[in-house]
Amino acid sequence: NEIGRYSTAAAVEELITPPVQISYTQNLIDGKFVDAASGRTFPTYDPRTAEVIAHVAEADGEDIDRAVSAARKAFDEGPWPKMTPYQRSLILLRFADLVEKHNDELAALETWNNGKPYEQAVKAEIPMISRLFRYYAGWADKIHGLTVPADGNHHVQTLHEPIGVAGQIIPWNFPLIMFAWKVGPALACGNTIVLKTAEQTPLTALYAAKLFHEAGLPPGVLNVVSGFGPTAGAALASHMDVDKLAFTGSTDTGKIVLELAARSNLKPVTLELGGKSPFIVCEDADIDKAVELAHFALFFNQGQCCCAGSRTYVHEKVYDEFLEKARARAIRRTVGDPFKKGVEQGPQIDSEQFKKVLRYIRSGIESNATLECGGERVGSKGYFIQPTVFSNVQDDMLIAQDEIFGPVQSILKFKDLDDVIRRANNTRYGLAAGIFTKNIDVANRLTRALRVGSVWVNCFDVFDAAIPFGGYKMSGIGREKGIYSLKNYLQVKAVITPLQNPAWL
Ligand code: NAD
Repeated sequence: NEIGRYSTAAAVEELITPPVQISYTQNLIDGKFVDAASGRTFPTYDPRTAEVIAHVAEADGEDIDRAVSAARKAFDEGPWPKMTPYQRSLILLRFADLVEKHNDELAALETWNNGKPYEQAVKAEIPMISRLFRYYAGWADKIHGLTVPADGNHHVQTLHEPIGVAGQIIPWNFPLIMFAWKVGPALACGNTIVLKTAEQTPLTALYAAKLFHEAGLPPGVLNVVSGFGPTAGAALASHMDVDKLAFTGSTDTGKIVLELAARSNLKPVTLELGGKSPFIVCEDADIDKAVELAHFALFFNQGQCCCAGSRTYVHEKVYDEFLEKARARAIRRTVGDPFKKGVEQGPQIDSEQFKKVLRYIRSGIESNATLECGGERVGSKGYFIQPTVFSNVQDDMLIAQDEIFGPVQSILKFKDLDDVIRRANNTRYGLAAGIFTKNIDVANRLTRALRVGSVWVNCFDVFDAAIPFGGYKMSGIGREKGIYSLKNYLQVKAVITPLQNPAWL
């Protein structure tokens, strides 16, 4: 019985010392680091050990008021919207250069506060951030409206203007990537921002915002506050002087902020919410590759991905072989200190998520899914959980319906394409899907039949600044990244002027 036999970090020699200090813990408002109005702070943790690593200023309604009024002033009185788009573009480019220069420190801070493997942060995540800001720097001076022929008697033009003060609320699973997806397009379009980080991971956005000011961003344009959802987050979502709200987090909280926005000033809202994404392995698939990709699709980032491939549907003809190999792969997964080389999986973010994931594992066992491996915590401190695989999962089990947000793979058997399309779509979510097949007709049929915002065919979690991301159904409203994100941050103004003696009428 291999349950519980995992490679642990003890097997991997080299520990990378965090090459970073925690320098910024106050709120960044109007270009200055300041204490909370109440003077209160809250602790932030290292999920490897559950030890406190810093105390951070705790924003509430009063700090949100201050941050919003700084953003309002920077928008209404300039200089940000009044700068030329080219000047804005240059600041975004300088910021991208600084992110590159501080790549290792940002990655270390991200790992320290979040628990994700340092190698993942340093090689993939932080480089994605400079890439994204360069992409949006490129857009800054290419945003323009149209001239519209209309009735022939009027000259009509549309102006694409910044929307104003953007309120942005982000989660803890990819703290800096979420910062980038929100801030990049908003600034490129000339808006000013109040961004509230997740209470679990306040540190890296403060560091990044400091770099932004080094890059020449005027005070008040980007304000970053740390604080809790029902206080700081709710104050931002319901603020009368915030012109637009962008939120990423759980579907339940998405409903709350949408309602707060509607009840206050009807600010437009974009939402990036949860998912229960199917990963479909067809009968013609190369099983070894499919196993590896399905494993990555679920376990990446400790399973804490909104788009995790958390329902692995496998064709009945290849199910047994797939299952055996998927189980062996999960058992081989290296769990341990995320600062150690070769570690694939660090701790879950906090005690709440850790307990929630273990509760779902119990629920899987109680509902008679077969526990193939894992199911327990690893070690006695921090929030490490064994890579866990369930087989014989049925669609109506809680583990096949709810977002677990942890290292728990659920494997389900399917008969044919009609069967898997119906079942894959039978969820309240619609964020993403993975398809593994060599048959182009099957791929085309599935990509069109699945009601989701992203379909990865023979790949998974391919993200680029230019690729839009967002959900159908209860996975969200709107799209982030790419050209699609720009319209979240722009107003359209129609300007109509009579034409005197038009030549062609
Ligand atoms: P969460 O909804 O609890 O928190 C997200 C953010 O909302 C945090 O900053 C939090 O402080 C804030 N918040 C909480 N209550 C609030 C309230 N009443 N008013 C205003 N703000 C409030 O989610 P979480 O547990 O931090 O993140 C995990 C969830 O986020 C998962 O469900 C995951 O699927 C989702 N997520 C989605 C995406 C995506 O792009 N679709 C990306 C990452 C995470």
